[in-house]
Amino acid sequence: MSAGRVSIVGAGPGDPELITLKAVRRIGEGDVILYDRLVNRELLHYAKPEAIMIYCGKAPGKHTFSQEQIQSLMEQYALSGKHVVRLKGGDPLIFGRGGEEALAMAAAGIPYEIIPGITSALGAASSGEIPLTHRGLSASCAFVTGSRSVSGEHPVRWDLLAGAVDTLVIYMGIAELSEIRSQLLKNGKAPGTPAAIIERGTTDRQRIITGTLDRIDKLAAAMQAENPALIVIGEVVNVRSELLELEAGMMDQTSSA
Ligand code: SAH
Repeated sequence: MSAGRVSIVGAGPGDPELITLKAVRRIGEGDVILYDRLVNRELLHYAKPEAIMIYCGKAPGKHTFSQEQIQSLMEQYALSGKHVVRLKGGDPLIFGRGGEEALAMAAAGIPYEIIPGITSALGAASSGEIPLTHRGLSASCAFVTGSRSVSGEHPVRWDLLAGAVDTLVIYMGIAELSEIRSQLLKNGKAPGTPAAIIERGTTDRQRIITGTLDRIDKLAAAMQAENPALIVIGEVVNVRSELLELEAGMMDQTSSA
């Protein structure tokens, strides 16, 4: 039997058109597709009709399969000669555990490849008209996890991030938002720093809530912000407001013409 292989593939941030040509081609070639919760289901239509489809979604607190089980499924199918496509939201290596899966395949001697995807921070910020870097406003940007970032085993260095990075993009941060806010304020981030929450970025249900750091947790609660969502903190959030104002001005001019 021919040796199988594994493709660890990024599905992009949500909009089914924001996927690479290479990723689409691999979905079409796969014998087994193991896909995550944040993968747009429309992308599964590129698969062969006979492909085995396995949902591996991990809703917060509710896991269909454990990470070890997923890796063992990948391994077993590949060892039985199948081409396994491990399809993950955004980029497979950004807060996606794709690195662990690659290590497991390498350790088992299974040929694998990694196909990048547009991570949700880039997709959601650009589609929300927030430039993560901007001349004069932001020369640096950090991707940070909010999950267990304060109390976990490996806490995020909010003390350093607060002063050292112009734009912060926080993944998985909604549940810990008020803790994150306190940490940033405590470590010197200005209370009036603009902040945005981008829900379901790039999809047709995208919603963007903007405010300032000191009120962002209250705003999130009042607006019932839900996952998947990203939090962007930094002066660049104001560029979006500026663009919206200019666009509104253009509309006024057209309507009064
Ligand atoms: N590998 C993924 C991230 C997985 S972690 C990537 O590169 O994007 C899951 C977190 O990503 C979510 O909790 C949320 O914070 C963020 N996320 C994923 N898709 C998103 C979307 N369409 N809009 C906003 N946030 C998203």
